[in-house]
Amino acid sequence: MSAKCICLCSCRRNAAGNTIVTTPTCGASGVLPAVLMIMEDHFNLSKRAQRKGLLVAAAIGFIAKNNAGISAAEVGCQGEIGVATAMAAAMLAHAQGFCAKVVENAAEIALEHQLGLTCDPVGGYVQIPCIERNAIGAVKAWNASLIASNEFIDPHKVSFDTTVNAMLEIGKDMSCKLKETAMDGLAVCMVYC
Ligand code: SF4
Repeated sequence: MSAKCICLCSCRRNAAGNTIVTTPTCGASGVLPAVLMIMEDHFNLSKRAQRKGLLVAAAIGFIAKNNAGISAAEVGCQGEIGVATAMAAAMLAHAQGFCAKVVENAAEIALEHQLGLTCDPVGGYVQIPCIERNAIGAVKAWNASLIASNEFIDPHKVSFDTTVNAMLEIGKDMSCKLKETAMDGLAVCMVYC
């Protein structure tokens, strides 16, 4: 199942009042499954490696949630797709056997380049931009893991903690119109005809 299918499917089930389990949020639920798919289909990583990668992803999500936020209403989409991307990048790096420093760098690179991402769902729904944003998040996670595993480990100038802190500060400065309210950005600029 693609990131697009998982994201849309979970949103539909949620709307129908069913119980769903997603991470880090419902709207950003397509990133990790998409990267899990390439871990199995492309990298042929074992189930054990995938499970251990998921534990690392959980740790990254925990740090982001407890030190900044994973809710678009608090910090914008950087806290949803951004954190999902960081979780997936760390998961992929760990499952491939890279050391903790590379794993941290992967998460940091993934989140750093999602900083400032706003939440501006067209019509208040999660079709635009959220579905493609999940797919882009998966691609970015792969790229972040690739970059982290190919660059010099030390010194890496920006730590994951620093980037989480930056996300919090950017979130505080972000207009509430760009935090899940559909009052700005794509939500108001898109032409309906
Ligand atoms: S744009 Fe908003 S609703 Fe869509 S994925 Fe990002 S945070 Fe979720």
